[in-house]
Amino acid sequence: MGKPRILVHICCAPDALYVARSLGANYEVTGFFYDPNIQPKEEYDLRLEEARKVAGMLGIALLEGPYDVDRWTTLTLKFKDEPEKGRRCDVCYAMRLQRTAEAARDADIGMFTTVMSLSPWKKTRTMNRIGRLFASRYKVGFLEADFKKKDGFRKSILMSREAGLYRQDYCGCLYSRNWKNHGHEKARRDKDGQS
Ligand code: SF4
Repeated sequence: MGKPRILVHICCAPDALYVARSLGANYEVTGFFYDPNIQPKEEYDLRLEEARKVAGMLGIALLEGPYDVDRWTTLTLKFKDEPEKGRRCDVCYAMRLQRTAEAARDADIGMFTTVMSLSPWKKTRTMNRIGRLFASRYKVGFLEADFKKKDGFRKSILMSREAGLYRQDYCGCLYSRNWKNHGHEKARRDKDGQS
């Protein structure tokens, strides 16, 4: 019997390389790039291109969702002034995880997950709670994970540097790009990169 299939939501190439490679030991991985939070469009195009590069390196299929930036902006507008990890991020996670669960169901892939828990700047418990919710709604399995464990974040930095991948220095939305320009936050992210 072959490995079970899993649809892995990808937000950027460095995270995808580490997570998809790790999951590949136990799953047949398909990537799914659905990130209408990423702005401006040039940045979105760059991250998508890098995700395609990783899919090619790993020999995995990559599904690409639409760039629903207007919908994303409408859904998150109410929380535009919140800091990163605030309620705007909950809405942002939910939009992307819902679409991933839907895409898994439509592609007849029994499981889904997201690479996002690799990042120390995201709320893993919240993402896992949202993932369970959409798993139940779309009748697919959800792999709860915290990929930053076992030194995952540091390993992903090394792996992506070795592969020569682009590492962004802000999460994705314009609000986060403005936020990262503040003082020590900028210094920290310049040093580690962002995922
Ligand atoms: S900071 Fe990141 S997770 Fe939060 S809303 Fe912006 S893009 Fe989404």
